[in-house]
Amino acid sequence: MSKFQAHLKSLIRENGPVDVGTFMGLAVGHYYKTRDPFGVRGDFTTAPEISQMFGEMIGVFIADAWLKMGSPAAINLVEAGPGRGTLMMDVLRATKIVPGFHQAIRLHLIEMSPVLKEKQREALMGEQVTWHETFVSVPQDAPLFFIANEFLDALPIQQYIWQDGAWHLRVVGLEGENLSFGAVMVPVSNLPKHHGPEGGIWEHAPARDAFVGDVAAVIKKCSGLALFIDYGHNQSGMGDTLQAVRAHKFVPLLDDVGEADLTSHVDFEAVARVARVVGNTVHGPIGQGDFLNNLGIGLRAGRLNQAEEFHRLTAPEQMGDLFKVVALCHDPAIKLAGFDT
Ligand code: SAH
Repeated sequence: MSKFQAHLKSLIRENGPVDVGTFMGLAVGHYYKTRDPFGVRGDFTTAPEISQMFGEMIGVFIADAWLKMGSPAAINLVEAGPGRGTLMMDVLRATKIVPGFHQAIRLHLIEMSPVLKEKQREALMGEQVTWHETFVSVPQDAPLFFIANEFLDALPIQQYIWQDGAWHLRVVGLEGENLSFGAVMVPVSNLPKHHGPEGGIWEHAPARDAFVGDVAAVIKKCSGLALFIDYGHNQSGMGDTLQAVRAHKFVPLLDDVGEADLTSHVDFEAVARVARVVGNTVHGPIGQGDFLNNLGIGLRAGRLNQAEEFHRLTAPEQMGDLFKVVALCHDPAIKLAGFDT
């Protein structure tokens, strides 16, 4: 048993079961703070790690939006959860030729992992970067250009389970020496009005909603845009989407806590709802395949001779459909590249 697992168990032994959100926050925190999980020999591979084309297309998207916004002299270019820094490196390389764009950029990265921060430092050598633990400390003194790939899926969610005619909060407790899921009756607001099927699970992501709400509020205040890419669904609904992945395979959630990547599917309907409430215009969500194709990845793939990487990023049965892209913007009149079909 790892030190982290022993710590989690003693926490539960002393204070009682923890809700799924607390459990996920602790497990994800430990996981990322202690490793670089990417690549064939790691646990999973993300789009920017598959091919440079991914970051290049996002560079095209951002530079196009910057031009359409009248080439502001200064922008805060912010990435949340930059992993190895590969996406940002590709974005910067692809946009070098846009006159005035690099001079305008102030680069901010939001990262909680010291291990990955070091990787980002290496990847972005020569760039002036400010790191932040959370979005809250990012300055609000210029238009915000925000990107995040596979970040929202790592933020903690809560789960509710329908049992014996009522919604219960799903928790992680102890059965003997082993972690196990349980359910407790609690007075909770915001529960669905409808009944569930016995044992049915309903997810709610307050941390994700709050994060998107904060970003949307800065876009409203300072102008700018945000681009979120993640796997998930277009419609809120029932279902347990919590999953653990280790060495490129799904593993049981409670088997080796803190040693597997723990994520949930992003509810894009909820993301769009939060952004609209704050007053942003919402583009998408559309499939990653459509987005990249609209930006011209096909041409680039031909030039780079990357037919296989192109297929992995865009084919519906690969990452093209399950991964979705949504953009938020302050100005309804601006047509963002990649979203017009
Ligand atoms: N965007 C990268 C990495 C995705 S993995 C890529 O596409 O390759 C998730 C990233 O988010 C990691 O860098 C992880 O350390 C970071 N992260 C996860 N939860 C976080 C949180 N609550 N605060 C800050 N960073 C977080």
